[in-house]
Amino acid sequence: MATLEELKTECESCEKCALCKTRTTVVYGVGNEHATLMFVGEAPGEHEDETGIPFVGAAGQLFDKFLVSVGIERSDVYIANILKCRPPHNRDPLPEEEDACMPHLREQVKAIRPKIIVCLGRIAAGRLISPDFRITRDHGTWYERGEFSMCAVYHPSALLRDTSKKNDMLRDMMQIKKKHDEVKKNEP
Ligand code: URA
Repeated sequence: MATLEELKTECESCEKCALCKTRTTVVYGVGNEHATLMFVGEAPGEHEDETGIPFVGAAGQLFDKFLVSVGIERSDVYIANILKCRPPHNRDPLPEEEDACMPHLREQVKAIRPKIIVCLGRIAAGRLISPDFRITRDHGTWYERGEFSMCAVYHPSALLRDTSKKNDMLRDMMQIKKKHDEVKKNEP
């Protein structure tokens, strides 16, 4: 099986959709290659496209604050996106872009083998948990999907637009920390 580094290198030359023409950098993912907990966002934004690192812009900085408040180390988890390349003007991913990019995420998950996958926002939840997922109704709910426990939280950029969602986010993140601790305690 390919290593995460090999998968990343392969992804960096991907031309399976038109975003390869407008991207600056492929934003593959960062973090602990053996993470128990993996976060999956939507797609790189401007700062991510420049740096090659997911969640480093304003939304990412807010997300970092939530990680700190619940005691999750960013270096202990793995962070990636549904799309590895930035959609122009940060528009929503197109279904064909998601279809083209999903094999990268699938291989990434196979290499990391997380036990918990948390979707950041409705796009990732709609793709990874259920097409009927409604973020305002279903955030913070756990779904058992084969070997993974999955849930979704609000996308941090939604919290920048609507600060009243921050309490829900904190509650959900506290649950995630608890689940992470439980799962890690039971690991060999
Ligand atoms: N929003 C995302 O969904 N992912 C990033 O990496 C940055 C912003």
